[in-house]
Amino acid sequence: MFTALVVRQPDASPACNFENWAETQLPDHPILIKVAFSSLNYKDALATTGRGKVLRSFPIIPGIDLAGTVVESSDTHFKPGENVLLCGGGLGEDFCGGFAQFARVPAKPLIHLPKNMSLDESMAAGTAGFTAMLAVLALQDAGVSPDMGRVIVSGASGGLGSIAVAILARLGYAVTAISGRAEHSAYLKQLGATEILPRQEFLEAAKPLEQQRWAGAIDTVGNQLLAKLLSQINYGGAVASCGLAGGHELPTTVMPFILRGIKLLGINSTYAPPGLRQRAWQQLAATLDSSFWKSISLTISFREIPAYAKKLLAGEIRGRVSADINTENYE
Ligand code: NDP
Repeated sequence: MFTALVVRQPDASPACNFENWAETQLPDHPILIKVAFSSLNYKDALATTGRGKVLRSFPIIPGIDLAGTVVESSDTHFKPGENVLLCGGGLGEDFCGGFAQFARVPAKPLIHLPKNMSLDESMAAGTAGFTAMLAVLALQDAGVSPDMGRVIVSGASGGLGSIAVAILARLGYAVTAISGRAEHSAYLKQLGATEILPRQEFLEAAKPLEQQRWAGAIDTVGNQLLAKLLSQINYGGAVASCGLAGGHELPTTVMPFILRGIKLLGINSTYAPPGLRQRAWQQLAATLDSSFWKSISLTISFREIPAYAKKLLAGEIRGRVSADINTENYE
């Protein structure tokens, strides 16, 4: 038997409970993992508070990220004793996820832990770090290089935004951060942002074309803020659209696309193919070191996940939250 955080049905109150589960209750996937760490993402916060319809089967263990050690495997790519990590791929949404001391997972989205990264650090990164790296790779692949001008990141003090700022700064880009929380300015400068602008400045309705200011952008907010960024991107630049913290709408026009040749790049981490997963994790581990992961993350206990999910949705979290799942005394 092991401990799992379980959502039994939509609209349950409370949304989730700790339960004792047997391994036979886990889905029929080829690889059994002893989970060491998981992490708390925006989606997990919605799932564990019941505030968003992100879960697709019931009962389910949420947790879209996990890192741990293979216990059993009928897949030849993974052997018992190997350290692995999984972010997305349906984990914690379509099938039971990382908020449990054991998980059974498919081989396709699973990857070996990069050499210079610990299990703990990989979950300080989690889906947020993986997605930030995918967004940076997409900008690079679209031709946005440091010599083309400043790049801008929205939702910068959140998990994805913080890591995006740090990656871009370390790769030599001049980074502007947009944040709704002035109290995090020193933190954002420490991550490498050299300019911090208030979110409010980007929330007025955008004109179809505004003054060209940015070579590229990573947006985690959507809605009016994304429309504003699109209208300010330099000729030939690109925006990686990752999130919807400010809403799913996009009140824009075709003008920046047809008159400035800009690109809007959609980023989806959940169903990223295996080759792209490998590329992003190798690059992430090569770009950011242990001291960085320590500086942006807080490690909580398994029991604290529901309380921290509420804090995340209330905008009270800065950076990332990883969860220590399989300590002997998980309480
Ligand atoms: P966090 O909650 O850690 O960060 C979100 C940040 O957005 C906040 O810290 C805040 O930053 C800003 N923000 C919050 N509320 C609003 C609002 N109402 N209007 C404008 N800005 C707001 O979440 P994550 O970083 O984990 O995720 C960010 C977004 O990216 C989410 O929408 C998430 O669903 C999405 N996402 C998408 C993925 C993909 O594969 N495409 C993968 C992972 C996440 P500040 O205070 O600095 O302004």
